[in-house]
Amino acid sequence: MTFRAKPLALALSISFALAACQPAADQAATAPEAPKLQVDLSQVAQQPIAFNAADLDTSIEACQDFNGFVNSKWLAANPVPGDRTTWGAFPALGERSLQVQHEIAKAAAAGSWPAGSMEQKVGDFFASGMDEAAIEAAGLSPIQAELDAIAALTATSDIPGFIGDAYASGQGMLFSFFAMADYNDSTTNIAYAGQGGLSLPERAYYLEDREDYKQARAAFLDHVTKLLVLAGTDEETAKAQAQVVLDFETRLAKASLGRLELRDPATRYNPVTLADADAMTPNFSWTAFFADLGVAAPEKFSLANPNFFKEFDAMLADVPLEQWQTWLRFRAIDGAAPYLSKAFVERNFEFYAKTLRGQQQQQERWKQVLGALNGSMGEGFGQLYVAQAFPPESKAKMEELVGNLMAALKVRLENLEWMSEETKAKAIEKWSSFTPKIGYPDVWRDWSGLEVKRDSYAGNLMAAAAFNYRYMLDKIGKPVDRNEWGMSPQTVNAYYRATANEIVFPAAILQPPFFDVNADDALNYGGIGAVIGHEMLHGFDDQGSKFDAAGNMANWWTDEDRAKFEAAATKLADQYSGYEALPGLFVNGRLGLGENIADLGGTTVAYDALKRAQGEGYTDPMIDGFSQDQRFYMNWATVWRIAFTEAQLKQQLTVGPHSPGMFRAIGAPSNQPAFAAAFGCKEGDKMVRSGDDRVVIW
Ligand SMILES: [Zn+2]
Repeated sequence: MTFRAKPLALALSISFALAACQPAADQAATAPEAPKLQVDLSQVAQQPIAFNAADLDTSIEACQDFNGFVNSKWLAANPVPGDRTTWGAFPALGERSLQVQHEIAKAAAAGSWPAGSMEQKVGDFFASGMDEAAIEAAGLSPIQAELDAIAALTATSDIPGFIGDAYASGQGMLFSFFAMADYNDSTTNIAYAGQGGLSLPERAYYLEDREDYKQARAAFLDHVTKLLVLAGTDEETAKAQAQVVLDFETRLAKASLGRLELRDPATRYNPVTLADADAMTPNFSWTAFFADLGVAAPEKFSLANPNFFKEFDAMLADVPLEQWQTWLRFRAIDGAAPYLSKAFVERNFEFYAKTLRGQQQQQERWKQVLGALNGSMGEGFGQLYVAQAFPPESKAKMEELVGNLMAALKVRLENLEWMSEETKAKAIEKWSSFTPKIGYPDVWRDWSGLEVKRDSYAGNLMAAAAFNYRYMLDKIGKPVDRNEWGMSPQTVNAYYRATANEIVFPAAILQPPFFDVNADDALNYGGIGAVIGHEMLHGFDDQGSKFDAAGNMANWWTDEDRAKFEAAATKLADQYSGYEALPGLFVNGRLGLGENIADLGGTTVAYDALKRAQGEGYTDPMIDGFSQDQRFYMNWATVWRIAFTEAQLKQQLTVGPHSPGMFRAIGAPSNQPAFAAAFGCKEGDKMVRSGDDRVVIW
């Protein structure tokens, strides 16, 4: 039950797999039956941040500082709220989605529903989380059985069995383990085991000498100590145990790969037989692990980053039992802390949100509970969200936009000057198999096996963790369900999944500044159009380009074309690595490469699509004195309007992959002659990259 906030940005989701979904063919994607949920959305205060010409700072030259021109005035007037670590267009939509969800959850909790209905589950889950008196009274009891099991271990040889039992109940703690399409056969799910076990955001936090990482390590020791004291350990013992925890995780960190290395899909995929795996980790039997999970012994599974698992195996042999128990006990308490009594919730906030991300205040209780609800049954809750908050006309307009973007991308692929006809044919084959998904799933996942009660918040979380994990485990060895979604409809985000070659746009992102059925084309193409392009271009970025039309990891490039692609990509990486986010701290252009290729290509294709939509002989309406081309680019920058707390910005620079929004606002346009022409920029202006500096990929 670990709680970690996810960065708000457009996610690339090649390895995105924990959401589970099975066919339920008889379930139509319609609103639930009567009695009907009565929700008053007029209570929702947070409005979307649409592009507004009055927000422009006309004292700043668009050709010198485009982000400042579009965003600085609004950002100066709208500081980051105390309960957030970022604020701007994207986070505001997230806030709006939460407020809509709050009205739905309150109405569900207040009503009386048939047992087992989605309204009952959502209402009881929400009510259990808001019942702070019951949570306070429960103390540590929700995890007592787990703590007892850890205390009862008598030898390190007991640990593999404990790990198996914990994973079987959905409480994974040491390595990642999930089902996902086989990289070599995208029609079948296999199991993937990968590195894990770190409490800090990335291995660099344990290993590098940077001042802020050293401070994070010191703060972590303090956090572990205080958490253990809260759980009843005396202070002196807790202090010693904190060092054990840090040392334990530092070993895991040393054996882990960094984010940059993990961008290569080959580092995340290492198919082995059970016999190979058992030989690699003589102290940990994968055969027994699969049996503990109740999963039939697979012919093969992916055991990625063998060095990590070799180190884990060595630790089973050389870390004393009581140190293992210390670490396991800490992870159990730390993972559950957000759902326990107030003192644990506060301790969790102090370290993970305040210290590591610069959040000044805790979120109100209802937001915390909605976070847990979304983590536990997000797609189920999404059925209620869609019925209340997604206008059907949005889907039709989106289909038109996607169609125009598809057509524009095809023309670009056909006319690429640097690519051979041979590779081009493969690229077009991949283009032709893109699957768009808009709004919400055609087939909703079946939640009938999940029982939700009003009397125990932690009990509901554990039941959902077990239910979701079982759902995921049941996919191992089975055909991939191409209907499944990896994000709930109420998520403000979008993603591309390489193994399915699909682009997915949840309902909640289809609002301004991204999308508005009543807005002029320039705003929609500069907003959601560029996002559609972005997700498509993930299929052709540094990672996605290593997967073919069928979603299999395969090289469909000639060597010469690949070399040209890499050279252009390197230029783009260098461009972003030149952006200084904080004094002395620069963007890592390699870590963000896939996102930045997607932004560059996505905006290019969206601009082409806008021209297609306008057609020949088009007369520009010049809204508020601005041309459609200007409004296209201004809305692109509005989408990326964002301010960060310093700690959050530092963390994002380390964990990536998205470049901070202020650089996304300018990075792609500065390479585009259409931008320079729209604003009358000249060579030598900061927003104009010309000659050899100008990057063109797709
Ligand atoms: Zn992306």
